[in-house]
Amino acid sequence: MSKAIQAIRGMNDLLPEALSLWQRIEQAAETVLTAYGYREIRFPVIEKTELYKRSIGEVTDIVEKEMYTFEDRNGDSLTLRPEGTAGCVRAGVENGLLHNQTQRLWYAGPMFRHERPQKGRYRQFHQIGVEAFGIGTPDIDAELIFVTARLWRLLGIRGLELQINSLGTPAARARYRQVLVEYLRGQHEQLDEDSRRRLDGNPLRVLDSKHPAMQPVIAAAPSLHEHLDEESRRHFEQLCAYLEAANIPYRVNPRLVRGLDYYTRTVFEWVTTDLGAQGTVCAGGRYDGLVELLGGQSTPAAGFALGLERLAELAALQQVAGAERPPQVYVAPLGEGKIAQQGLVLAEQLRDAGLRVELHCGGGSLKSQLKRADRSGARYALLLGESELAVAQVSVKNLRADEPQQLVRMTEVPAFLCARLAGGPVQ
Ligand code: ATP
Ligand code: MG
Repeated sequence: MSKAIQAIRGMNDLLPEALSLWQRIEQAAETVLTAYGYREIRFPVIEKTELYKRSIGEVTDIVEKEMYTFEDRNGDSLTLRPEGTAGCVRAGVENGLLHNQTQRLWYAGPMFRHERPQKGRYRQFHQIGVEAFGIGTPDIDAELIFVTARLWRLLGIRGLELQINSLGTPAARARYRQVLVEYLRGQHEQLDEDSRRRLDGNPLRVLDSKHPAMQPVIAAAPSLHEHLDEESRRHFEQLCAYLEAANIPYRVNPRLVRGLDYYTRTVFEWVTTDLGAQGTVCAGGRYDGLVELLGGQSTPAAGFALGLERLAELAALQQVAGAERPPQVYVAPLGEGKIAQQGLVLAEQLRDAGLRVELHCGGGSLKSQLKRADRSGARYALLLGESELAVAQVSVKNLRADEPQQLVRMTEVPAFLCARLAGGPVQ
């Protein structure tokens, strides 16, 4: 036997058992997003490297050290998408979706970042991303937060805290940047290596440092809030009023900045203390300059991305039920030839009637087939042997209740099972 090849570090297989919870989350997200008028968009997982450099910013963790970048056979530099907003905007501009109109879009799929793998932090991870284009007012910022709050409600997820902040306009941020740089220069001795480097390129990112030694420096830093321009301040107050009107509790976190360069005004995160260090389940905000930066007409925009690994982990901790839908009926043909053939036909007829049916393939004894039937999760087993076939009937066995086995005419089996399975809990 040759040596088995293993997966790449930080890239996980998602097995059927765990996926039922993912599917529940994905279905809930689709339901909620559709209820707010968002439509799905799909775009490639690979783009030109330039797209991410330009949108995310050169002096960011992602572009500096996390991207999977390679040359293809033509010598073009390509990158596996580290996040979805850039690709979504690129696709929107290229296909004329963003010009003079509002557009509510969502997408889901894998993202790739070469980070140090740990709990809640992987090299291939999955996001559901939501973007709203063409609306500059804070009502859409609030709507995006309502979408997430409703999703948590629908899933029964508790204990997420909403943190919000405003980064102001680029001009206000530039003014604040000067004040911050001055302050950080005064703290030079305390700064870690990353922060020293960021001081010149992207000083706001120092506030996003996770380095423990940096926390007191960050806590004492001047607040961006005091440097907000008048309009951003009004925008933020409006957002707060909308959240209060909808009874969504929030905390203003004046140190909240996002890892990506392109945010303006509103930023928000949903954070939990239940997942250890990787507690941000969902993060987003406004990015009014990005569409223009990527070659479109100036278009206000806001969005968020939620991390499915972290949300699924939290949902599992809180015992949220998965979307598992095992077969309802297990068809057990107890023989070959005509019997096997009748088994195939019967299973098809049951599926025509809308039931979920697993057919036993490969033969075997009654005992072994019943064992598999039990393991499949089905409520009923249909036993089809010589004697049943001779009288065009099947034996119906309830696997989940103590009930006598019953002979039912072949032609009546679909109606018989539908009547019994309808209304009952879908098992
Ligand atoms: P963090 O501060 O945790 O590194 P980030 O600011 O880099 O997060 P975003 O780019 O805003 O994260 O991504 C949005 C969400 O995607 C995060 O809140 C998180 O739930 C998830 N996420 C980001 N990176 C990873 C990763 N490497 N593994 C798993 N989930 C991730
Ligand atoms: Mg990160």
